[in-house]
Amino acid sequence: MAKDRLAEVLERYEAVIGLEIHTELTSLRSKMFCGCPVAFGGEPNTRVCPVCLGMPGALPVPNEAAVEATVLAGLALECEIARFSQFHRKNYFYPDMPKNYQISQYDLPFCKNGHLDVEVGEGASAYVTRVGITRIHLEEDTGKMIHVGGAEGRIAGADYSLVDFNRAGTPLIELVTEPDIRTPEEARRFAQTLRTVFLALGISDCSMEEGSMRVDANVSIRPRGATEFGTKAEVKNMNSFKALHDALAYEIVRQADLLDSGGRVVQETRHWDAAAKRTSGLRSKEEAHDYRYFPEPDMVPFEFTDEWIASVKAKLPELPAARRERYAAELGLPKQDARLIADDVALSRFFEQAVSVAGADRAKPVANWVLGELSAHLNATGLAVEECGILPEMLAELVVLIEDGTISGKQGKDVFAEMAQTGERPGAVVERRGMRQVSDTDAIEAVARRVLDAHPDEVASYRGGKSGLIGWFVGQVMREMRGQANPAVVNDVLRALLDQQDR
Ligand SMILES: [Zn+2]
Repeated sequence: MAKDRLAEVLERYEAVIGLEIHTELTSLRSKMFCGCPVAFGGEPNTRVCPVCLGMPGALPVPNEAAVEATVLAGLALECEIARFSQFHRKNYFYPDMPKNYQISQYDLPFCKNGHLDVEVGEGASAYVTRVGITRIHLEEDTGKMIHVGGAEGRIAGADYSLVDFNRAGTPLIELVTEPDIRTPEEARRFAQTLRTVFLALGISDCSMEEGSMRVDANVSIRPRGATEFGTKAEVKNMNSFKALHDALAYEIVRQADLLDSGGRVVQETRHWDAAAKRTSGLRSKEEAHDYRYFPEPDMVPFEFTDEWIASVKAKLPELPAARRERYAAELGLPKQDARLIADDVALSRFFEQAVSVAGADRAKPVANWVLGELSAHLNATGLAVEECGILPEMLAELVVLIEDGTISGKQGKDVFAEMAQTGERPGAVVERRGMRQVSDTDAIEAVARRVLDAHPDEVASYRGGKSGLIGWFVGQVMREMRGQANPAVVNDVLRALLDQQDR
């Protein structure tokens, strides 16, 4: 769908978007209510036990680390932490849920009333929008259905369905936002920013592809200036940030077309089809009373003390927003660089170690190398920064070699390529290949004099006013010295010689 179509619709209508984000606590060792390991994939139905298979009489024991991770997420997002809370049973029948109920939280979630500030857009049109967080609660994930035959693995038209309970019982936090989001881009940025927070907390790998982070969106539109909400549709099945954006853009235009033609929006759940780039109706949305929530009788309620909450708060790491600020204020990084590095936990760890070796005054060139050659190398190889073989000290050494004039920036790129391939330290590469950049004025002057003597016509032209020839002279000297001279020094020496002889 064309971008300007969405822009045109958003001039007449205001979109009201709220997100519901499920995140598996993949960094935990065991499931929510049993000791089965948490992992992705694997041979179906191998990580199961009577508790997560919902066998009669099996009793759940809550995973304390999961409770702590949920409260940590709440604290990171400025939520109020409940002093009293409990689990509820959410009753519904579906084959991927062996107990026929899900242990979840209802009116007493662990965390509520938080917010996250989200930077949207770039450059002069950038702005910050605050998105309220209604609640964060803890529940168990369901198993996974595999529909065989039919279209796109969907149940409709499938020949048969298989079920894998490996995922059943995985600790899952559900975060619900206030309907504060107004555009597909704000929704995408919210989800991306939330992901950086969760990654910084180390509670999940937040993989949209593997489904450990799943974003559903409620979206409605209303004429600009109206105060009443329109009827909302829930959009599901977006497995990338781009899909979230595109599904919302499609849905906003679809609803506008409906209203423009005198129709009305039906409250329903809609499925995003990434290949066809459209949403289609799935089922009418359940109301809370359909689930017949009641307090989970197999577990006592939680009573968090102030001391316990304080002990969790003490474990909060530096969050990406604070890190961005620090990089800009203390290291003088441009906003965009600061964001790109600070939002990535591993990259920021690498960057900070490199800066600690190279010196804070070289933070900017270090950032350039991290975001330039290093990121390109990681993209090309598909390796994570901690497994790419380049250590922060090695990049720092390279930056120092360039900054102190030992080698040129161009030579630096060759050294980087060699270091990335062999793991050899930059200093060793420079020595072995005899790459030292010549900054010695006497050596350069000797070559410069030869070049000037060999080209009397050009010297005369330069003196006659064609000062642009300086670049040509620099090129000649650089070629004579096989690219190893410091260009800035060559420039200075040539100008001095030409001016001197001019007199
Ligand atoms: Zn189990």
